[in-house]
Amino acid sequence: MHFANHDAPHPCWTCQYYGGPLPDNDVNGLCQHPRLSPVVGQPEYGCAFWVREPGINDEQRQP
Ligand code: SF4
Repeated sequence: MHFANHDAPHPCWTCQYYGGPLPDNDVNGLCQHPRLSPVVGQPEYGCAFWVREPGINDEQRQP
């Protein structure tokens, strides 16, 4: 389960656990956190388990 943080969103693509967009899907993302479901419904909001990817730029957009 993912608890989205809508107050101060950190998108999944700036998180060290992000595995990229799901194949053939422009909406959902892949999460590699060992305690969470692998499918993220709203990667633009991240979740409470977000951890910054070292060196990532906040302005970076999902590829
Ligand atoms: S841990 Fe949370 S913020 Fe990080 S990739 Fe998974 S769902 Fe996204």
